[in-house]
Amino acid sequence: MATDSAVPVPATHLDAARDAETATRNANEAMASGLKFGDTRDFEAAQRGLIAPVPGGVVRSESGTVLWNLGEYAFIDGEPAPGTVNPSLWRMARLNLANGLFKVTERVYQLRGFDISNMTVLEGDTGLILIDPLTTAEVARAALALYYAHRPRKPVVTVIYTHSHVDHYGGVRGVIDEADVQAGKVEVIAPAGFMEAISGENVLAGLPMMRRAQFQFGHLLPRGPRGQVDAGLGKAVARGTPGLIAPTRTIERPVEEHTMAGLRIVFQLAPDTEAPAEMHMFYPELGVLNMAENACPLLHNFIPLRGAVARDPRIWAKYIGEAIEMYSPHVDILIGQHHWPTWGRAAVRDHLEAQRDLYKHIHDQTLRLMNKGWRPAEIAEAIDLPPGLAERWSARGYYGTVNHNVKAVYQRYLSWYDGNPCNLHPLPPAPAARKLVEYMGGAAAVIERAHNDFAKGEFRWVAQVMKEVVYADPDNREARALCADALEQMGYQAESATWRNAFLFGAQELRHGTLRMPPRGLSADTLAGLSTDIFFDMLAIRLDPAKAAGQSMVVNWHFTDRAEQLALALGNCTLTHRLGSCSEAAIASITTRRDTLDAIVLGKLLMQDALASGAVRIDGDPSRVAALLAMLDPPSTMMFDILTPGEGRP
Ligand SMILES: [Zn+2]
Repeated sequence: MATDSAVPVPATHLDAARDAETATRNANEAMASGLKFGDTRDFEAAQRGLIAPVPGGVVRSESGTVLWNLGEYAFIDGEPAPGTVNPSLWRMARLNLANGLFKVTERVYQLRGFDISNMTVLEGDTGLILIDPLTTAEVARAALALYYAHRPRKPVVTVIYTHSHVDHYGGVRGVIDEADVQAGKVEVIAPAGFMEAISGENVLAGLPMMRRAQFQFGHLLPRGPRGQVDAGLGKAVARGTPGLIAPTRTIERPVEEHTMAGLRIVFQLAPDTEAPAEMHMFYPELGVLNMAENACPLLHNFIPLRGAVARDPRIWAKYIGEAIEMYSPHVDILIGQHHWPTWGRAAVRDHLEAQRDLYKHIHDQTLRLMNKGWRPAEIAEAIDLPPGLAERWSARGYYGTVNHNVKAVYQRYLSWYDGNPCNLHPLPPAPAARKLVEYMGGAAAVIERAHNDFAKGEFRWVAQVMKEVVYADPDNREARALCADALEQMGYQAESATWRNAFLFGAQELRHGTLRMPPRGLSADTLAGLSTDIFFDMLAIRLDPAKAAGQSMVVNWHFTDRAEQLALALGNCTLTHRLGSCSEAAIASITTRRDTLDAIVLGKLLMQDALASGAVRIDGDPSRVAALLAMLDPPSTMMFDILTPGEGRP
């Protein structure tokens, strides 16, 4: 998942949402009739071992701002589901309300329902091992406080990040002090490639990911039966202050065993699964296996709606299979960093085998049909889970869906291009829409037909064709309203929380426009954690070629705090750099510290002040350095248009 947790949520009173249409009610009832609602074992598992709930259901910042509020979900109060919520999703929305401090078994506790993710506490002989300190410092601090209210106050001696997603590390500053890490009192452990994965996934394309994550998580939607009810993995991503303390040790070998605070931990690396850097853990003395985020009781994403490099479900299944083989004969309890545990050796094995087969099945069947020449949307329409998986709650698509996971498999192997050259060079969306609507007899004729199809319950088509009318003329209020109405019914029918959120947030933006929110960049911790290599790539993607045309130069950089140097070259309207080298032909040489440059990029320090104080020294031609910096776009604002064509585009 992505990082949008520090964005303040404006008061949203935009709930002009309509009720469920008859077609939607019928679809939801039909779905409910095929599922085993009588099987309530998950509800027992979600409550088992509860010691105390999240106090008041609320976490506040120091200044009193509410950052987490389970009370917003009080409307989720039993069966049956309202007509505006898919009944299977409603069930998950109820399960994800379980919250508080839970005893899993002796020495293993979990804090759930403080955030989208779980924090796991292992009680070692000499102190606590905390696994995945949630998304923000505030909720992580509150979670640890609840633990200490009921358990002995042993110090935290180790923090383990299971993988490189912010809901698994961002709250670290709420549970440990960086000075203790530097003093060697606290160790921070992560899988190999952790820091590189954070930079790779969330920095260069971080901004559009944050924007798209608004659709995935729905945090700017009102909560309610016509709004956000869940996020699939949990209720929502907690707000507050995300941060990062870099790991002091990474797990590098496929399987590594360490004894930490007197407890044996067997680490199993599982790279390129749910995250580029991820690992499982087995605690032999406790009979507990922790699958991080690779075996949650749902169908996960091969590509999340926020966007990501396509994941590899074949490898994902392989690592689950490896865990089954190595550990399941000794495992009595399976835990994860989302949702509730699975108890019992046979049940654990059964769950893991189903997860393995779920990912492998979608992968294999997509490739089977790809090999017959089928196109992505055709495969997605045809594949459904087979008997044995379909009726399992733990295989349902609350977060990922079979439909978009199929498209991710196709993309991974064959790219965005379906091979039909008619699709190789089409007009861009807005000009194509204008032509299309004109050929179809104009907007009024299209809207009239679409109203008829809406009445028949053909919401998918209505949204599809109304998108063309909106792109042809974004000011057409009737088209926007009808498109919103259709998306909304699709949201009410969606089993996946992320699909529901996307459809409903799309409807909200069509009706009320895009919220204009303050721009935000990287956190200081993320910036400090970036390698200088990625840092300069981050600058390079802001180069405006119109301003750089005809220019070329080389600038040498020296970072005294990291003993790093590099030559930054401009040519062909492109910035490239060579780490570790300097150029004799440089027009200037800049000497500073990386943390000084970070402060300038964060807007905490002005370049002219840094020059005046000597924090930045330029030997050579400062005016050409200034000209180079002026070729960079200002940092982008995130709230670009999605439901409408947007300004300045072809
Ligand atoms: Zn997660």
